Amino acid sequence: MSPLKTFDCIIIGGGPAGSMAAYALAGCGVNVAILEGKDPSRAKVCGGGLQLKAVHILPFDVKEVVEREIYGIIYQRRLRDRFTRRYSSPISYTVNRARFDNLLLKRAQECGATLFLGEKAISLEPAIGYTNNTRVFTERDVFDARVVVGADGAGSIVRSALNPGGIAPVQLGLICELKKERGNAHIPEDLFVIDWGTVPGGYAWIFPKEATLTAGAIVPRELAGTLNVYLRAFLERQGLKISEEQRLLAHPIPSRRLGEPIASSWGILAGDAAGLTDPFTGEGLYYALRSGQIAAHHVEKFLTGGNGSLLDYEGEIDAGLMQEIIVAGKMRSFFNTFSSYIHNLYRKNDRLWYSFCEVLRGDRTLEGLRRIRSIPPKPVLRYLERFTSWYEARQISRFRGSVMFKSMLSKEEALRC
Ligand SMILES: Cc1cc2nc3c(=O)[nH]c(=O)nc-3n(C[C@H](O)[C@H](O)[C@H](O)COP(=O)(O)OP(=O)(O)OC[C@H]3O[C@@H](n4cnc5c(N)ncnc54)[C@H](O)[C@@H]3O)c2cc1C
Repeated sequence: MSPLKTFDCIIIGGGPAGSMAAYALAGCGVNVAILEGKDPSRAKVCGGGLQLKAVHILPFDVKEVVEREIYGIIYQRRLRDRFTRRYSSPISYTVNRARFDNLLLKRAQECGATLFLGEKAISLEPAIGYTNNTRVFTERDVFDARVVVGADGAGSIVRSALNPGGIAPVQLGLICELKKERGNAHIPEDLFVIDWGTVPGGYAWIFPKEATLTAGAIVPRELAGTLNVYLRAFLERQGLKISEEQRLLAHPIPSRRLGEPIASSWGILAGDAAGLTDPFTGEGLYYALRSGQIAAHHVEKFLTGGNGSLLDYEGEIDAGLMQEIIVAGKMRSFFNTFSSYIHNLYRKNDRLWYSFCEVLRGDRTLEGLRRIRSIPPKPVLRYLERFTSWYEARQISRFRGSVMFKSMLSKEEALRC
């Protein structure tokens, strides 16, 4: 084991949250290291849909890794009832996650961050009081820093030390990469394909990339047993098939509730480690990048000896990103309760479609959507929110008891054999 490696700040995890925090801290002259346990060029479990609002907050250009510009969505509900909606400008980009993550890591290093690859953190010894440093133990080394940023994703070990109660995964996702070939040439290059309403609280998608199509599905944790069968059924409807040798990758999606700790006297959690994901769509790249930036701001303030406390980070997240996450959760319940009605509204109502595109593009926030005039007054809205949340939970529990669920489970069982 080599001598203790000391930094002002150690970031565990070289994903988008970690790289973004490192980039911002190194830019302020902080002596910062990133510990990344795996090869960043490996396939990651992600659709690779990069929201424009995520691109807008990046302090450098990522055009070189953008694979497709997306101008609309082919919607279907319950694997049928298809229609296409288009917008005049891109509503999203698609990226290959390995290329995207590598670019962010490269930019952080160029800014002065030190990257340790293959350094998987296995345990932490948190500082006691404000005078000590926190120690991070990897399989090979011991690191030591005033502040630790946990950007180590859904299975974060920093979260286990900082918030032993944890942040529960609320959804589970599955993806597969289909190589582009003649058999799938009919899938458009500039549109997302999305199915919803089939499994309550879940949806399936195809995102076009340069050489592949990324197909995936997300369902609530309680319905995890349907994931594989749902994705296959969705693809069959598009005339696509998952081959025998195709790798399917699954991953949990944690979602934080207000009040769950994400900061302490010695460290901060960002991105998936903090459960900062959209409970409606499962998207997390924007939240990872933004929380990485906010984390860096508070760490820098703390290290430069001002009167900043790391706990202020939690307050800023609660007042900003969490408000978007809370609205997204309410919208998911609303969409699930009135899925047939909303599906038709999307088809016919230009105003709703354009507002949705504006949210995707980052021209308008979800919170801002609530202020449009046709939204019901507050007491009605509160009632609707309570009703739809109850209805969604009931839908999920009913689905678990349904014949369809049982048949999906037995098909899933057969796939495993
Ligand atoms: C099926 C699925 C599809 C998704 N599709 C989209 C999408 O289309 N668009 C979108 O915006 N979001 C999507 N997401 C969410 C998105 O992938 C995550 O929110 C995002 O990757 C979070 O970034 P992060 O930096 O917080 O964590 P991660 O990207 O998970 O990065 C964490 C890093 O930490 C490293 N690490 C972990 N433990 C340790 C350790 N002990 N020591 C050292 N290193 C460690 C990991 O190797 C990893 O590189 C999807 C998620 C799923 C499950």
